[in-house]
Amino acid sequence: MPLHTQMFIGFVLGAVAGISANLFAADHWLLNGMITYVANPVGQIFLRLLFMLVIPLIFSALVLGVVEIGDPKSLGRIGGKTLLYIMVVTSCAVTIGLLCVNLLEPGRGLPVEVGQAILAGSADSAGAIVAKKEGFSGIDLLLNIVPRNPFASAVNGDLIGVMFFALMFGIAAAVLGDEKTRGFLSAVQGVYDICLRLIDWIIKLAPYAVAALLFSITAKLGLDVLKQLLYFVFTVVLALSLHFFVVFPLLLSLVGRMSPITFFKRAESAILTAFSTSSSSATLPTTLRVAEEELGVPRRVGRFVCTLGATANMNGTALFEGVTVLFLAQFFGVDLSLTQQILVLALCVMGGIGAAGVPGGSLPVIAMILVMFGIPPEGIGLILGVDRFLDMCRTTVNVTGDLVGAVVVARGEPDDSA
Ligand code: ASP
Repeated sequence: MPLHTQMFIGFVLGAVAGISANLFAADHWLLNGMITYVANPVGQIFLRLLFMLVIPLIFSALVLGVVEIGDPKSLGRIGGKTLLYIMVVTSCAVTIGLLCVNLLEPGRGLPVEVGQAILAGSADSAGAIVAKKEGFSGIDLLLNIVPRNPFASAVNGDLIGVMFFALMFGIAAAVLGDEKTRGFLSAVQGVYDICLRLIDWIIKLAPYAVAALLFSITAKLGLDVLKQLLYFVFTVVLALSLHFFVVFPLLLSLVGRMSPITFFKRAESAILTAFSTSSSSATLPTTLRVAEEELGVPRRVGRFVCTLGATANMNGTALFEGVTVLFLAQFFGVDLSLTQQILVLALCVMGGIGAAGVPGGSLPVIAMILVMFGIPPEGIGLILGVDRFLDMCRTTVNVTGDLVGAVVVARGEPDDSA
């Protein structure tokens, strides 16, 4: 049975079992035990197995990517094109999100008591998120790009720091030339290939992980809370779909010169992995394989755009940040003027670059933006319950955006993949 069918079955089984458990045995010790000792560990083991590979993979892919670009002039050109793509397409995504939330006003219909009750119950987690926001304000965001200690960055999961180090390492290796770096580079290539093989094995566990993760969410939240937040979810999904089904196909056919249908068919495995892992970084190996093998993007372009994109090009995340900030502003009755909304847009574009490609990576960024606009950051507690599902959707858009970016940037570049 193909992997996506298995995943779908896992999805349906997990949700049905979770909702039934919530309806008939909510808060029963047996159910709580199952969530804590069976469902959560299964989901967590899967995610941890993937995270285990993120640092060696990002380092090796980026070093090899930069070295393969070889000619510093071409790195400049690909880098420039990638940067332009990220800024333009991410701004477009946030604009779509802001338009949808202004038109649909999902925050206005929500009964205040439900929100307050959830807020009261989630004060701790909201507090923890706010504490994490340090380092996300303007100049710190820039400073944090350069790591004091690349190993500390790796240990803390600070991917931007690791990426910067890898980029510098790669540039220096490229400048030194083949003779001096051959041994080192073949070792790095080995690390990269081993990571890809490991990922292949780990992905086979995805259907079980999806069932387990879905079971624990629905068993805890049941239908009531889901219903209250459904309108918000609908708004996010609508905005993400517009970006996915309108903007991406337009970019593909007008700039990338590739049929969107062919693209979506070939990108299927990356799209499914993104949806099931909620992590651009964990999906990276699949994204790289799809870009090279399925979409025929030259290896050096695919590696560069997709590796950078996994952390810096997050269309779905930026869109989600915009919708969430405005949704919570509506919920708490904070009116944001057009100028303030334009500022939200700019912050979300930066937030898309600054958020980590891990599940929930955008939450600290959202907390920071909320504080800036005088919206109670505790509001994040309101959306935590539905975040997993939305994370799956926005990560799908993030990863697809990286692949579309790879196709677009590859236009006009010589095909020199081995
Ligand atoms: N989970 C997202 C990703 O990995 C980041 C986020 O929006 O939380 O792409």
